[in-house]
Amino acid sequence: MKTFHCNRCSQRVFFENVRCERCAALLGYLPQLRAISAFEDAGEARWRSLHPQADGALYKQCHNYAVENVCNWMIPADSPDTLCRACQLTRTIPNLSTPDNRLYWYRLEVAKRRLLYTLAELGLDVKSRRQDPQQGLAFEFLEDSGDGSRVMTGHDNGLITLNIAEADDAHREKVRTAMGEPYRTLLGHFRHETGHYYFSRLIANNPRWLPAFRELFGDERANYGDALDTYYRVGAPADWQASYISAYATMHPWEDWAETWAHYLMIVDVLDTSTAYGIALLSDDPREPTLTDRTPVENASFDTLMKRWFPLTYALNGLNRSLGMPDGYPFALAAPVVDKLRFVHRVIAEAGDKSPASPPAQH
Ligand SMILES: [Zn+2]
Ligand SMILES: [Zn+2]
Ligand SMILES: [Zn+2]
Repeated sequence: MKTFHCNRCSQRVFFENVRCERCAALLGYLPQLRAISAFEDAGEARWRSLHPQADGALYKQCHNYAVENVCNWMIPADSPDTLCRACQLTRTIPNLSTPDNRLYWYRLEVAKRRLLYTLAELGLDVKSRRQDPQQGLAFEFLEDSGDGSRVMTGHDNGLITLNIAEADDAHREKVRTAMGEPYRTLLGHFRHETGHYYFSRLIANNPRWLPAFRELFGDERANYGDALDTYYRVGAPADWQASYISAYATMHPWEDWAETWAHYLMIVDVLDTSTAYGIALLSDDPREPTLTDRTPVENASFDTLMKRWFPLTYALNGLNRSLGMPDGYPFALAAPVVDKLRFVHRVIAEAGDKSPASPPAQH
């Protein structure tokens, strides 16, 4: 992700912030500019953007920002909408009368907005169900009911369901350990499930990609229920790391795709962030790799991304170990996995509309 600054006092601010820590200006995200803006109060619940590219346009807060405190996105003041683009995608929210559910909802929306930022940066079109009732994207944040029925996190024809228990750190960490997963994050869930969504949008029934997909990931017509049963009965093959990004990816070609897709989005986001912070590797030790390439990730070739990724992960793991934390990037990418990532890159590069974020029309 790019870095953001308060337009009033230049303080560094984050994508999730609602107030500038230094000058207390209201902050909000302008999806049209893909930027956080500072605002000044223009009265009647309208806010004037101080972002240089916004030309002083007026905005209002998303309802989930102004009232529910789970969002920080802004809407053009003259829009009939009350929910921002991101919140419009959420079809079902948790029951807020249960303690903690508001916090879980907040965490889910934060992760969802990060996902949407990356998709926008890659030029991937996200349509809501209202814009496209057939193929639009929608999210449901559901909770296990008392009668023992479990909410399964998953994707079904554009509808992505997340079990809100995943937003409970203790629960998620317990599942992560039990499943032997190196990562289990909310953002990772969102990335993974949108992988299924974009498979159906970009690859299924598409002769442009299907043959190459099957060569790399296998035949997705294999019975999913059988694959699931087998996976939970016997687990992944012992040598899965030679061809898969994760044990779960061995379950079915759809899961292999979704896991690889999620990993690709993560690589792009981390490289984008490190580039935005100006991170370079300039060791005096000739045995250490040098990293100076600053090409914006959305324009970089796959080989360039990989060339930057590996040295960065060594540094990241070294830093984490100094912090006394586990490795930030506990993966080894075998050559077949890199080929699958390259395929994801090609699919996205062809599907993506890379026109830069555009200033809004004047209001
Ligand atoms: Zn400020
Ligand atoms: Zn919102
Ligand atoms: Zn999946």
